[in-house]
Amino acid sequence: MMKPTLMRPGGLPNSASTPVVTPLMPSVVYASTTPDQLDEQYEGRTEGYTYAREGHPNADVLARRIDAMEGAPMPGIVLGSGMAAVTAVLLGLCKAGDHVVGGDQLYGRSLRMMRDDLPRLGIATSLADPTDAAAVAKALRPNTRLVLIEVVSNPTLRIADVQGIADLCREKGVLLVVDNTFTTPRAVTPFELGADVVLHSVTKLLAGHSDVTLGWVATRDSALSKAIYDFAVTTGMTPSPFDCWLAERGLMSFDLRFDRAESNAARLADHLAAQPLVKRVLYPTRPDHPDRARAQGILQGRGCNMVSFELHGGRAEANAFTQGAHQIAFAPTLGDVGTTLSHPASSSHRGLTPEARAAQGMTEGFFRVSVGLEDPDALIAAFDAGLASVAAVK
Ligand SMILES: *Cc1c(COP(=O)(O)O)cnc(C)c1O
Repeated sequence: MMKPTLMRPGGLPNSASTPVVTPLMPSVVYASTTPDQLDEQYEGRTEGYTYAREGHPNADVLARRIDAMEGAPMPGIVLGSGMAAVTAVLLGLCKAGDHVVGGDQLYGRSLRMMRDDLPRLGIATSLADPTDAAAVAKALRPNTRLVLIEVVSNPTLRIADVQGIADLCREKGVLLVVDNTFTTPRAVTPFELGADVVLHSVTKLLAGHSDVTLGWVATRDSALSKAIYDFAVTTGMTPSPFDCWLAERGLMSFDLRFDRAESNAARLADHLAAQPLVKRVLYPTRPDHPDRARAQGILQGRGCNMVSFELHGGRAEANAFTQGAHQIAFAPTLGDVGTTLSHPASSSHRGLTPEARAAQGMTEGFFRVSVGLEDPDALIAAFDAGLASVAAVK
């Protein structure tokens, strides 16, 4: 007869050797030996986990890797999404009566938080053009708590004056928060440029396979880190251990993926710029990029995986292009191993009036490409198929 056992006999088999892959540890709770040991854990005299919402091994392994890539001065934390990281920073560090300045081309949901959510909670906000440190200076108020910028704007790929804004923030005693999702530490390490807080949507290039949703954030000050951590734990921004495990696996090939995507992007940009149906191409290393000199300095000669371009014509040409380029996923994400194409006028920026979009150069013919790791000739052939179907519209 089977011997009865308790539900949790516990313990792993002994092994003098160790696994080379991080074990997946989905445990939500951790058992301690005595109340004294729990005291020691809570008082920080012993390390140990208690409850997964407060931290778990797979999140910490991933966080330590991203910390090292970003050169984070303090240990960072991994959260359930990039927007969780944005929210934990804004609401963990600001109180009613504060003022926040954001870049005027931030990620759509970050913009929405600036426009709708922060004001509802008594936090005033302003938007300013981050390519112009003087415009950011003008937006500051005596109660400004922080400035949130991205290095490369989406989808127009303008380059923020990170150095100028960092100098301004230091002088005025305002925190500088940089969302480094687009640029990644392969191109920019914002802590070196003077950022106080750096955050990521790990969902994008870092994890890189469009199969997890995660965020990361770190600061250069233990009190800031603790405020963000406590807000995230209280509001339940917990990342799934499995997502952290997958993202850690994704990070192993991050450098190689980034370099390949970047070289594909540079080639695609030059190819598109030579096509008569293409009105203009935006890519940071091209001589015709509006912020080329700054891009050279901040991105250290790197170009990233994003290319934007504008077709001559309007919606009919845009429809013909996505149909002809059907081998390229027409999907509004970025940083995947596969190339994706997005059309801001019908997706991320559909909430703007056509005039407001036009003011930012986003016409019906405007596309943003997140370039993947495909064979470059096959990639260019897929884009040429799109252009051929545009030619047939005329
Ligand atoms: C995608 C993205 C976010 C939000 O990240 P999620 O993981 O989708 O929540 C924030 N900032 C930038 C620049 C992004 O591209």
